[in-house]
Amino acid sequence: MTEQHNEASTSNFLRHIIETDLKAGRFANKRWAPPPATAVDLGGAEPDAAQIRTRFPPEPNGFLHIGHAKSIWVNFGMAQHYGGVCHLRFDDTNPEKEEQAYVDAIKDAVQWLGYDWQHQGQSNLYFASDYFEVMYRFACALIKAGFAYVDEQSPEDMRTNRGTLTSPGTNSIWRDRPANESLARFEEMRAGHHPDGAMALRARIDMASPNMNLRDPVIYRIRHAHHHRTGNAWCIYPMYSWAHPVEDALEGITHSICTLEFEDQRPFYEWSLNTLADLGLLNRPLPGQHEFARLNMSYVVTSKRKLLQLVQDGHVNGWDDPRLPTIAGMRRRGYTASAIRLFCERTGVSKANSHIDYSVLEQALRDDQDPQAPRAVAILDPVKLVITNLGAEEVVMCHAPRHPHQPELGEREFAFTRELWIERDDFMQDPPKKYFRLFPGNQVRLKYAFVVTCTGCVTDETGKVTEVHADYLPDTRSGTPGADAVKVKGTVTWISAAHAVPAKIRLYDRLFTEPYPDAGQSHFLDHLNPDSVETVDGWLEPGLDLATPVWQFERLGYFAPDAKASEDGLPAINRITTLKDTWAAHQSKSSAPSKPNRTT
Ligand code: ATP
Ligand code: MG
Repeated sequence: MTEQHNEASTSNFLRHIIETDLKAGRFANKRWAPPPATAVDLGGAEPDAAQIRTRFPPEPNGFLHIGHAKSIWVNFGMAQHYGGVCHLRFDDTNPEKEEQAYVDAIKDAVQWLGYDWQHQGQSNLYFASDYFEVMYRFACALIKAGFAYVDEQSPEDMRTNRGTLTSPGTNSIWRDRPANESLARFEEMRAGHHPDGAMALRARIDMASPNMNLRDPVIYRIRHAHHHRTGNAWCIYPMYSWAHPVEDALEGITHSICTLEFEDQRPFYEWSLNTLADLGLLNRPLPGQHEFARLNMSYVVTSKRKLLQLVQDGHVNGWDDPRLPTIAGMRRRGYTASAIRLFCERTGVSKANSHIDYSVLEQALRDDQDPQAPRAVAILDPVKLVITNLGAEEVVMCHAPRHPHQPELGEREFAFTRELWIERDDFMQDPPKKYFRLFPGNQVRLKYAFVVTCTGCVTDETGKVTEVHADYLPDTRSGTPGADAVKVKGTVTWISAAHAVPAKIRLYDRLFTEPYPDAGQSHFLDHLNPDSVETVDGWLEPGLDLATPVWQFERLGYFAPDAKASEDGLPAINRITTLKDTWAAHQSKSSAPSKPNRTT
């Protein structure tokens, strides 16, 4: 992939850290062998050609969302920029919630975003579960050296005795038991002799530490659960906070980048690595943990657990519902990988938590697609326009550029005929001031065709307009000499009714009515927008290539073909976003969310 706006090119504090490390040669002598490392001695390993190693470590317990896209962009982007390698590592230490289907979806999402864990013939795809045996050995070594013990307090007692932020914890009565007793118990735990929660392996650090995470954190717990990869081979599983530094070290990670919630865990991360290195189980230089602010976006939820609830309870149609901020959903909606990378770059990497407005994502799509998306005409809310001075059989071929700034893309051609579809709101019987489109007596240009004079309309018994009438001015055809002699203030898009292609067009709105649906006291489901999708029977310009990734429908916005056709077999088209950010304006006028359709 070329370095456009694709990698972490903006200046940020992580780059500064990496550049400082590179300059100081901190990782210059590191050696590397593909994991899973079974031997502690990396002496025989090759010098590592990668300047840095980063990793993206998802837990396979759901589909990835826009926040993960940010993390992918940071980790893969940084590695790419500094001549390094990024590992895709599944942190599968929580057997109950993990599934192979999620593993597959995550791999797909990373690749679709434009990244690859393959590097010079080496596949850097790893699973924490591949290290269970090594982790177990390391845990035993900690016990033997007096750095860990099996605690047989009940989970409640463990919690109570941990103390609070203002008071120190209390040592467990099991804390000073002999190492060989702990070791025997730990072996029994592994052998399945004890039920869940009966005991746990804890690091022996300091029950009075001001950092709660250092008050003898649990590093192994009993879980009689089936694991999606290791099956029933294990009934004890390492805790994430201990597993993670071990995984990083075994993979030769140099920069372990995570979100700010883990800042308080960093002392334990470092304790784990240094203790294991001091015991001769890990080689130095050790990985370093660096935190950045997670991405929060308004009008969505970015938590796999909450997304799962939306999916499971049927509030949306699956993980790839185009309203979801999942990578699969955004992809299906029509967001491009390059637009998402541009969004990541624009939102930056910082230490300060903030909420990014949803409109930043939409603007990234516009800026990504405006220079490339082919133009086309669609009519979403059609009403017929009859050109009364054109014969029923007459056809005038009209031309339009596929892209206004890319003549090399050529032209599209379509028929101008007596009956056309126009947007219903392009006509008003009794218009307000400054309405420049069709009303009786007014002249407008039918885009790429003729100037027409509106002569009136036909209404049904309810007063609804069923037909608009107009006469065209034959000398005003676009692109012919003198076409501009008649000056008009409005331009209207149209499609020949005899040639238009029917389509189901899905117009999306925010999934939630509140910018921060999961903040405050109320439940996020209470803020679901009941009108987050509307499907309309629209018309498309004839001859559209339905394999086009994204179109700009003139005057309407950016649209993409949905990978799944509509129920009645018609093409399904998703609106990705409108042409301009009309949403903020609508919101300030009324508190209820509304559905902006057009910008002119
Ligand atoms: P979730 O709560 O949605 O399950 P998670 O952090 O538990 O999120 P993981 O699968 O553990 O999900 O995340 C993999 C990586 O993605 C982690 O390094 C995590 O820090 C990062 N990540 C997750 N959410 C965000 C976010 N909103 N912004 C930036 N990075 C994120
Ligand atoms: Mg997690």
